[in-house]
Amino acid sequence: MNFAHRTQHLQPEGAYQVLANAQAQEASGRQIIHLEIGQPDFDTFANIRQAGIKAINEGLTRYTPPNGMLSLREVIAEDAGKRRGLTLNPNQVVVGPGAKPNLFFPVQALVEPGDEVIYPNPGFPTYEAMIRVAGGIPVPVPLLEDNCFSFDLDVFKRLVNDRTKLIILNSPSNPTGGVIPKPDLEQIAVAAQRHNCWVMSDEIYARIVYDNASVPSIASLPGMLERTIIVDGFSKTYAMTGWRLGFGIMPEKLANMVTLLLTHSVGCTAQFVQVAGVEALTGPQEQVDRVMAEYQRRRDTIVDGLNAIPGVTCQRPQGAFYVFPNIKSFGFTSSAMADLLLDKAGVAVLPGSDFGEHGEGYLRLVYSTSFENLQLAMDRLRQALKSL
Ligand code: PLP
Repeated sequence: MNFAHRTQHLQPEGAYQVLANAQAQEASGRQIIHLEIGQPDFDTFANIRQAGIKAINEGLTRYTPPNGMLSLREVIAEDAGKRRGLTLNPNQVVVGPGAKPNLFFPVQALVEPGDEVIYPNPGFPTYEAMIRVAGGIPVPVPLLEDNCFSFDLDVFKRLVNDRTKLIILNSPSNPTGGVIPKPDLEQIAVAAQRHNCWVMSDEIYARIVYDNASVPSIASLPGMLERTIIVDGFSKTYAMTGWRLGFGIMPEKLANMVTLLLTHSVGCTAQFVQVAGVEALTGPQEQVDRVMAEYQRRRDTIVDGLNAIPGVTCQRPQGAFYVFPNIKSFGFTSSAMADLLLDKAGVAVLPGSDFGEHGEGYLRLVYSTSFENLQLAMDRLRQALKSL
């Protein structure tokens, strides 16, 4: 079939391919430990589930405004503003089914064919896909393992120029868990202002942070709110991946254009899901803290376990639920290594190269699985890698 040029580059996400291979092995009786899919293993908190069910029973199953119910946009403006030290109004908030529409549509609204877009590599695969659909030129900037997997700022400064329309940031990051330090954000902000670029700051993991680390938003730096799109959502913090609820915060004029794109694509986000979102933000937050403490315990187990394996080195990330160990010393491609670990150890992980060429030599492991599973996975990995 001859598909339109703008779609010919699209690929499935690697995680789903690995999941399919792992499930094929499970069907033949093997027990596989899944460290490949990036979603919380906890159920959505009970108060949020109840709010969604009650809303359905009350008939809140109709269309809403395309940019979301005012009651939800109000609590998002207040909560997201408070957490970032910003004063926001609900008209700057666009609610969507998941965070992804607020990645995809602002890019379609802003990027002309031929515009350059800087994005992190290794990075979330959707970034490159959405840039290409818009006809933009993807300009990858490597992340540096030795600098919390923040941008290589020397490369960034060489690449940013007057043709750069947008700079995409993701802190804490998928796939590395790295957090961009404030001094780096300050340098990026200076460049964005000098070259009159937009910044898209994907902050979906902003609440999944350890060691009391501070995760500043570039939007909080002077002069940046008016050129930044903050992307956030409920999927990771409140274990709501399948509910599909997220939001973007952006200048009102851009919010109006993104709203038009939502109007003519998804229409709106499910009404009862938005009601559950109000409960997530206004209900008790202690359960979020409890989950974060458990993630931190798991992070320490997996990082210590990986660093104890000869040949593997692993940074201790300050956010998200991913680790990105360096496996270069084994001399395998990361894809061959991921296949080998599935076959030999029964542990499903993703090759770093699924996140771009600068992910080569690394693996991505997700620790949103039980503590016992993680300990078992570490034993199996140690055994499998010992014999290489
Ligand atoms: N941004 C990043 C960095 C992600 O890792 C993900 C999901 O894995 C998303 C955005 C999408 O979130 P949602 O499922 O809410 O659309």
